[in-house]
Amino acid sequence: MAWFKRDKKSIEQSTPPEERRVRTEGLWVKCESCRTIVFRKDLEANLYVCPKCQFHFKMNAKHRLEMLLDGRWTEHDAGMTSTDPLKFVDTKPYAARLKEAKKKLGMNDAVITAEGQLSGRPVVMCAMEFGFIGGSMGAVVGEKVTRGIELSIETRQPFIAISCSGGARMMEGTISLMQLAKVSAALARLDHEKLPYISVLTDPTTGGVTASFAMLGDLNIGEPGARGDTLEIGWMGTQFARGKELKSFIASSLDLLLS
Ligand SMILES: [Zn+2]
Repeated sequence: MAWFKRDKKSIEQSTPPEERRVRTEGLWVKCESCRTIVFRKDLEANLYVCPKCQFHFKMNAKHRLEMLLDGRWTEHDAGMTSTDPLKFVDTKPYAARLKEAKKKLGMNDAVITAEGQLSGRPVVMCAMEFGFIGGSMGAVVGEKVTRGIELSIETRQPFIAISCSGGARMMEGTISLMQLAKVSAALARLDHEKLPYISVLTDPTTGGVTASFAMLGDLNIGEPGARGDTLEIGWMGTQFARGKELKSFIASSLDLLLS
């Protein structure tokens, strides 16, 4: 005699037994430094720093801005895009590389210009995106950073640049190199207006970006373990970047600030 009777049909197993496993891809990440497997949510909560060894994971530009700015920010010049002035082709056309990067990242070039608040203080912040053709600086990046500096001058807000770049964009040749001078000239105007410029160097900051605005900050802050072209930048948040060549530069920068 049965004590109860199942009226409904038993639940059908739509997934074959061999596919019945928990999907864990993307939930865990391995630390490049200490090889510990870290739960992604914990890593995010710890601002992308390994909870075990303090290794700083790479972050994209959007995460940087979300981490640093309070709440929402206003993006500027988001629609600016390269015209491929040299019609450059290497292993594939530059136009195709641009198209691919735009599709993959949902942005038009390798930098985001944001106007927002940092701990309640209004700032203009440019964050570079390494995923977009190695965070390289072509005409668009140069123009956007310059406009960001000009916005700082116009609105009397400090300027902050988060560098993460392989350097000048070779697909735009000399036009890329011209950006070095253009951005540096804009920074000179910012300096003339007595507005602060803070440069944050993240892994990697190399080439033309190191040779121009990344090293021109009133304060240059290097993330621990961040790589530079010929120097290693490694120090803690509030301390200054160190490295054989950089040290003397920072010291002279400080002297200037103190004088
Ligand atoms: Zn670690």
